Amino acid sequence: MKTVVLKFGGTSVGTIERIKKVANIISFYKKKRFKVIVISSAIGGITNDLIKKSKLISNNFDKAEYDSLLASGEQAACALIAGRLNHLGYKSRSWMAWQIPILTKGPHNNSRIYKIKKNQILNFIRTGGVPIITGFQGINDEARITTLGRGGSDASAIIVAKFFKAEKCIIYTDVEGVYTTDPKINSKAKKIDKISYDDMLEMASLGSKVMQPSSVQDGKLHKIDILVRSSFKKKSGTLITSSKNSLSNQIITGISSTKNDSKVTIVGVKDKPGVAASIFKPLSLNQINVDMVVQNISLNGKETDMTFTIKSEDLKKTQKIIKDNKKISFRKLAYDKNVSKVSIIGVGMVTTPGITYRMFQALAEKRINIMVISTSEIKISVLISNKQTKKAVAALHKEFKLD
Ligand code: ADP
Ligand code: ASP
Ligand code: MG
Repeated sequence: MKTVVLKFGGTSVGTIERIKKVANIISFYKKKRFKVIVISSAIGGITNDLIKKSKLISNNFDKAEYDSLLASGEQAACALIAGRLNHLGYKSRSWMAWQIPILTKGPHNNSRIYKIKKNQILNFIRTGGVPIITGFQGINDEARITTLGRGGSDASAIIVAKFFKAEKCIIYTDVEGVYTTDPKINSKAKKIDKISYDDMLEMASLGSKVMQPSSVQDGKLHKIDILVRSSFKKKSGTLITSSKNSLSNQIITGISSTKNDSKVTIVGVKDKPGVAASIFKPLSLNQINVDMVVQNISLNGKETDMTFTIKSEDLKKTQKIIKDNKKISFRKLAYDKNVSKVSIIGVGMVTTPGITYRMFQALAEKRINIMVISTSEIKISVLISNKQTKKAVAALHKEFKLD
C-alpha cells in the first residue's frame, strides 16, 4: 500500500460544510487503499485573528508565546476533521505536532523541521487509522512550541511526505492550482499544468502565496513531487516537479506581487566606507529581512540617500533601530507603506535579450512609476505604488503573452 499526504489549507476547512467535504476527499483515498496522512491548517482567518489579539495584548508579544498562541488554531481544525471521519466510520485521531513530536530548529516564528519521530503515526496507520496532524508547527529542543512562518503547513506536508516516504503529496487549496499570476488579482491568469521547482520557488518567494517558499525549497531538496489542486472542484491541478514547465515556450512563467511591503529611505546619510554595514547589521541581528536596496550616487561625496524595503510588520521596529543607531548620522527618515513589489519570473529570461526593456515599456505605457528595481538571472522586480498593482500585473501579463 502506498502512502499519500493530503494537506488542507485554511479555506478548505473554512466551514463545517467544507470540513465534511475534506472528510469525503480523505475517504476517497482510503477507498483506493492508500495509507493516508492528513495535515491541516487552521480554519481560515483564525491565525490572523490570533495575531490581532496578541498585538492588542502587547506590541512586544513574547515570540515563544506567540508560537504557542498561533499553533492553537490548527488543533481545532484537525479535531473536527478526525471527528467527521469517525462519524463516517473511519478510525482517525488528531495529533498536535508536539505530541508526535515533530522537532524543529531555528528561531521562533520561523523554525524548520529537522526530525519526526514516526512510531506512533506508523503504528496507527498499520491498524488502518488516518492520522490528522496539525501543520505549521513543531517543538524545539527546549520543548517549546514553534511555528514555521506564515503559510507553514505547506512545509509540514512536504517534510511529512519525505519522512514517511509518501508517493504523493497533495496540497488542497481554494484555487485549481498554480496560475501564471494570482487569479484573484487578474482574471486572465492561466493555470499552469506543470512547473519546475525553480520557477515555483521564485514565484513563491516573490509573493505568490499559493505555496510557502521554504516548502518548495524542501520539495526541491528532497525531490518530492507536489500536486496543488482545488478542494472544491475535481480538476487536475498543477504538478511542481524537477522537469521543465508545461509552458516551456514561454519566456516568462509567471508574475508575482506582494501586499505588505514598506519602503524606508534614510535621507542624507554620511557617505563613508562601512555605512551600509552599519545600517543593516542591527536589522539583521533583529531578524528583519531587508529586501530591495538602492543607494543613490552621492553628488557631493559627503551625503547619500539609502532606500530599502522590508515587510510592513517590521516597520516600527526598523524605525526604532535606525533612530537608536549611534553608528550612523542622517538628516531624515522617511517611509512609505503603500508600495508593492511586482516581479516577472522565468528561467527563459537569462537567454532572451530585451526582457527588461519590454517590462519597463509596458509599465510606462500605463503611466506606472518605478521606484526601485532589482534583477537576477530569472526574475526582474520593480517597486511601485500599491494602488497600481492590479494594473501593472495586467499589463505585464499581456506583454509577456500569458493572457
Ligand atoms: P491555503 O489556505 O489553502 O494555504 P493560501 O491562501 O495560502 O491558501 O494560498 C492560495 C491563494 O494563493 C489563492 O487563493 C490565490 O489568491 C493566491 N495566489 C497568489 N498567487 C497565485 C498563483 N500564482 N497561483 C495561484 N494562486 C495564487
Ligand atoms: N494557519 C497558518 C497561517 O495562516 C499556516 C498555514 O495556513 O499554512 O499562516
Ligand atoms: Mg497557504
